[in-house]
Amino acid sequence: MGDDFDERNVRIVVADGVITHIEEIDRVPDQWIVPGFFNAHTHLGDTVAMDVDAAGSIGDLVAPPPDGLKHRILRASSPRLCVEAMAASIRTMAQTGTWGGFADFREGGIPGVEYLQQANTDCSLDAVIFGRDGGGESVGAGLGVSSSRHYGEELTKIIERARADGKQIAFHAGEKDSRDVDAALAFDPDMLVHCTHVTPAQIRRIADAGIPVVICPPRSNWRLGVTSSNQNPPVHAMLEAGVELWLGTDNVMFVQPDMAAEMAFCHYVYHIDAPTILKMATGGGAQIVDRNYSLIKDHDARFTRYNMARSNAGFSKNILNTIITRLNSISMEGSLLNCYLK
Ligand SMILES: [Zn+2]
Repeated sequence: MGDDFDERNVRIVVADGVITHIEEIDRVPDQWIVPGFFNAHTHLGDTVAMDVDAAGSIGDLVAPPPDGLKHRILRASSPRLCVEAMAASIRTMAQTGTWGGFADFREGGIPGVEYLQQANTDCSLDAVIFGRDGGGESVGAGLGVSSSRHYGEELTKIIERARADGKQIAFHAGEKDSRDVDAALAFDPDMLVHCTHVTPAQIRRIADAGIPVVICPPRSNWRLGVTSSNQNPPVHAMLEAGVELWLGTDNVMFVQPDMAAEMAFCHYVYHIDAPTILKMATGGGAQIVDRNYSLIKDHDARFTRYNMARSNAGFSKNILNTIITRLNSISMEGSLLNCYLK
């Protein structure tokens, strides 16, 4: 319950999608109620390039337009296919517990942002779209900057325009090395994505500036080969410095947008404790979309019910550890959102 994820036997009353009453009770059904996750970094448009066979380095695959294979596949895909693919990934997120929302870096300028808005119509997750290629300066709620090293002097103007329009600014930074982190920090962004490679001095600056960091370590970083050690990203150094960390699954091209799998990897490989991981998996919503999914009266009822009778999880002696390492859609009872009930 609440922001600390302590385990309690309760009845939760929901009216019109809002938690109106929570009361302690002695006997409860064989169900666990878990706050909806917020996937703080996705590239849902990549769904059309899922698991493509490709030679060459990952850098070549995701290189900025027009060269990278990813961008060539995106250009060759019809708008209808792109919308269908992104809608399928959004359903996949919901079916794996992401009832809160997501923050997406979206290519394709203004049409690209609009396609993702269409794709989210059924599920209506809370979404912030960080547009790229011009999309962030108009209809998107944010501007997504791939590494500052991909831009020239025009970046200052792009950011000034986005700021004037009240957009949130997010930067990829420190994915391959730490050399683009200082340039990103110079723009005082609303969030950084990756920080797989950051120096102690940069961690201090990030903490002092109160800039949240979305890490995608468990699978994206390992899959893309930008880390091979649990020292990168330096998760514990960032937590100890007071940096707020959120979890994101990154490119659907390489990694399923499944926060449950992300949490399990994070726990096993980075040895992060369960309450901290749950905070990282839900916390982005409060800042990015101004919604808190914690189980607290008057909050939106964006939670998942798991039926323990459907799996072996009911034998758990540590519910929080079981939630972050073992739960999946097999035991999911559902949520109040339409896309799961259809
Ligand atoms: Zn990314």
